[in-house]
Amino acid sequence: MDFSLSKKQHELLQTVRELAEQKIKPYARSKDFSLDTEFDWHLVRILAEHNLVCPTIPEEFGGLGLDTITTALLMEEIAAACPGLAAVVDANLHAVGPIMIAGSQRQKEQWLPRLTGAKACLAAFALTEPSGGSDLDSMITLAKKTRRGFVINGRKDYILNAPQAELICLFAMTDKLQKKSSMRCFIVSRETLGVKIERLRDIAALDYARMAEIVFDKAEIDSGSILKADESYSGYLLLNETFDTGRVLVGATSVGIARAAYELAAEHASNRIQFGRTINKHQAVSHALVDMAAKIEMARLMTWKACWLIDKGHDHTVASAMAKLTASAIAQEVTAAAADILGARAVEKGSFLEELLRDARVLSTLEGTNNIQRNIIASLLY
Ligand SMILES: Cc1cc2nc3c(=O)[nH]c(=O)nc-3n(C[C@H](O)[C@H](O)[C@H](O)COP(=O)(O)OP(=O)(O)OC[C@H]3O[C@@H](n4cnc5c(N)ncnc54)[C@H](O)[C@@H]3O)c2cc1C
Repeated sequence: MDFSLSKKQHELLQTVRELAEQKIKPYARSKDFSLDTEFDWHLVRILAEHNLVCPTIPEEFGGLGLDTITTALLMEEIAAACPGLAAVVDANLHAVGPIMIAGSQRQKEQWLPRLTGAKACLAAFALTEPSGGSDLDSMITLAKKTRRGFVINGRKDYILNAPQAELICLFAMTDKLQKKSSMRCFIVSRETLGVKIERLRDIAALDYARMAEIVFDKAEIDSGSILKADESYSGYLLLNETFDTGRVLVGATSVGIARAAYELAAEHASNRIQFGRTINKHQAVSHALVDMAAKIEMARLMTWKACWLIDKGHDHTVASAMAKLTASAIAQEVTAAAADILGARAVEKGSFLEELLRDARVLSTLEGTNNIQRNIIASLLY
């Protein structure tokens, strides 16, 4: 294995590191992103200026065409500066995943360029429902075939980017009796009549990102909106393929969050004096910092390995689920350990560590809970 970066990767990483440290983090730390305010496009526009709103989109459709490992390197930097912005990008990457895997040339030309360039829009990935999170057989959103296309009824909840997204990557069943085995993927314009943002979800995490419930009330879409019109095509397999590649980026986001917490703790420990010396000279604190650094390295290496397998076209389902499972757990452990080192300062509302603690908490739930990752690994491991 070769861990060295190419010249292009190195330059890109440098650019994103500078953006993250000099523009994204200072702006994010100075702003109130509560629901009382309008969504703030400023951070998205910073990335858009460098075509980084959805960097995996191939060059022929206006994107940077980055592979998974390079995208993971960038996601770590973005997450270390502003986890909410990383979540916005992650939702975009997830929403275009099915188009890149199963879209026709026409569908790719229609949708992908919209997420590229300085005016890039946002996209949402709509799977979860009030009745069905982990259990997809309890999904009730139905896309009923008509002569001109499909009519959709149902609702999707806890959808990142939903209030701002121009395009929605929707998973719905097409036959009530066949449930998830009849699932198909549709690309729906937010402007479609009958598509409504019912309510914003006010979540205590990923502060910059917005999340909402989407209602589909007799929403009519044309037949060109379905990915792979062939009736034998499995939307469920497409979903799994999308998750298999997408969830490594939750691994990268987790590494970024853990790294930011470690950096805060290391800096504090080298300045805070107790009992006549800086607290990093107390062995218990220095060992805690070492354990944090070692865990972050483990999460990063597992994420990179899964990315490497994806980019080489090797089987990556187990590696990808293990990377997400481990990295998200490590993000929780490292943020909690950092909170111990910062003492009372850690719980100060609005402090960066208080934010990172809340962000780390949700990583084990999104893109398939960690129990679901364990189920996936168990089904393939033995
Ligand atoms: C920050 C955030 C962002 C999100 N963004 C999106 C998005 O953009 N698009 C989208 O579609 N969804 C999104 N979601 C929803 C997310 O995908 C679901 O929350 C997740 O799939 C779990 O569903 P649930 O919350 O209904 O929990 P449930 O499925 O009800 O699970 C509750 C608990 O039971 C456990 N459990 C359930 N079944 C099993 C089982 N068979 N074996 C073992 N344990 C089990 C789970 O692991 C969990 O601990 C987001 C969620 C969060 C928190």
